[in-house]
Amino acid sequence: MNQELDNMVASVREQLLKQFASAEDKTTVLRSNELRTLYARIAQLPNDQRAPFGNAVNKLKAELSDLIRQHNEQESALPAIDVSAPFALNSDKAHRPKLLSADLGSVHPLSEEISKICDIFYGMGFSMVESREIDDDWHMFGSLNFPEGHPARDDYDTFMTKQLDKDNKPLIAPAHTSSMQHRVLLKNKHLLDKGQPIATIIPGRTFRNEDVDPRHEHTFNQIEGIYVNSQVNIGNLIATLKTFLESYFNSSNIEVKTQPFYFPFTEPSLEFSLSCPFCNKQGCSVCSQSGWIELLGCGMIHPQVLRAAKIDPIKFQGFAWGVGVERLVMMKYGIEDIRHFESGKLSFLRQFSAGGYL
Ligand SMILES: [Zn+2]
Repeated sequence: MNQELDNMVASVREQLLKQFASAEDKTTVLRSNELRTLYARIAQLPNDQRAPFGNAVNKLKAELSDLIRQHNEQESALPAIDVSAPFALNSDKAHRPKLLSADLGSVHPLSEEISKICDIFYGMGFSMVESREIDDDWHMFGSLNFPEGHPARDDYDTFMTKQLDKDNKPLIAPAHTSSMQHRVLLKNKHLLDKGQPIATIIPGRTFRNEDVDPRHEHTFNQIEGIYVNSQVNIGNLIATLKTFLESYFNSSNIEVKTQPFYFPFTEPSLEFSLSCPFCNKQGCSVCSQSGWIELLGCGMIHPQVLRAAKIDPIKFQGFAWGVGVERLVMMKYGIEDIRHFESGKLSFLRQFSAGGYL
């Protein structure tokens, strides 16, 4: 074999050994253009040069195949990896799981909307605390004026755990964010004596034993609001919610109406409806042709709830509300089925990614 052909094989060998060292998939060297070019060259050579050159190329291929086999043997000798275990950032790069690019994901539409809602209330002077995902009987019911055995407890279809709290009652997956009211009142009541209000919103996940359908989920999000100060009246409550809704729906002509309702922890209690922001009370599918949408429950905080937190209900009054986040978001974007939110359906979620709404 002449020197030129010899050099050609040697140079390809050198290149392929380098590729082998750096390649993640070692078998790529066998499929490389360099090796293919050598094989193609065999047929172009005069008869007397074909055999030695062909042998040299086959020898190179065998050498590479051997290297791959040795590499695979070493790999399989490594201890098994527990793929569910968290990996150390300093572990060998070749053995780290590949991370998905951040551009493939987006903020969940509910998280996005919860932060928009919070921003509106921050602008109105409210602060925020998050709710809990497990709570006790006192915070879910007792501190909110649901006495033991009160029938209203049954309205909440609560999930309870087998584990008991310090009063020997089952722990509860909260069925409303109102379970945080007592804590917020206790923690912030010192503000009242300084002439400052208690103004807090409480976003959180809530749970009820619901039959799931397009309008009902067993797991959903609420935003609770509490405002306590001296000389607070129900007009303040209605104005606060109206201001919020006009901002959230970006509409300056929302009308609201209230009708009496019953909650043990507010007196009076109200069901709060707004004029349909989509049809100007003409009737459409969002408002079931009624022109009005029942949105949330609210009311003036019951004196017993204030007393439970050692706040004098003669000196201070307050209002509270709880609104379902999914309900608001469904209305805003015309989403027809609440189950989409927790479904993990990419076709649903992608409509909200990169700021591109429906
Ligand atoms: Zn409507």
